[in-house]
Amino acid sequence: MKILTVLLALATWAFAQQQRSPALQFDPARLVDMSYEFDDKTVYWPTAKPFEWHKDAWGRRGDGQWYSSATFTTSEHGGTHIDSPIHFSESGMAVNEIPVSRLIAPARVIDISAQCARNRNYQLLPEDIESFEKRSGAIKPGEIFLIRTGWGRFWPDRKQYLGDDTPGDASHLSFPGVGEAAAKLLVARKVSGVGIDTASLDHGPSTAFPTHRVLNGANIFGLENVANLDKLPAAGATVIALPVKVKGGTGGPVRIVGILP
Ligand SMILES: [Zn+2]
Repeated sequence: MKILTVLLALATWAFAQQQRSPALQFDPARLVDMSYEFDDKTVYWPTAKPFEWHKDAWGRRGDGQWYSSATFTTSEHGGTHIDSPIHFSESGMAVNEIPVSRLIAPARVIDISAQCARNRNYQLLPEDIESFEKRSGAIKPGEIFLIRTGWGRFWPDRKQYLGDDTPGDASHLSFPGVGEAAAKLLVARKVSGVGIDTASLDHGPSTAFPTHRVLNGANIFGLENVANLDKLPAAGATVIALPVKVKGGTGGPVRIVGILP
């Protein structure tokens, strides 16, 4: 009798587990692709080598069957990519060390496109975040905080997007970013990561990169050149941002998917 009771309890538990954890299936209309394609037009930092891709084999083999294979070479910081905390913090996590639980998280999206349309070098302020929270709710620990500057409309026009398209010269860049005080507020909010639709979390004219240092110093990752931020609501979406898992890497290309509420 005792064994039967145990078996029955086990079966009930297994059934309950099944009911609690159905496999996730998403309506395609709720999925937003938030990464840009990688090709020779993809915007990279002016001092970085551009993306390279070449075909190693491409066509019919001797037996008439198709076979294709290619090689790509990329800087860790170009196109839609992640900045791992070690990028600006010696003791920060490398890209392979970021737990996937931090890369899949609720997303919050602040829209500062109006401020940035008036000032190309606008920097997100703590006041912007505070008024955002009044409108859309407090930022919660573990969320991925995304900044919409409206710069996606310039992609992939390097001159418009970066403010200057001189190869090898990063001294005349002009685009919006996150101010240092706002970065400190996001650290206090314990966000998992911070993303933006420009080439860098620090605005174009920055040479000391204080925002990168503040965020990476708190083991917070960055996402840069994020696409389609205008498709996400201020709250309620989930973001999946999975980078290539290079051991010890400071960043790398990332495929970002937004799941609409
Ligand atoms: Zn980067």
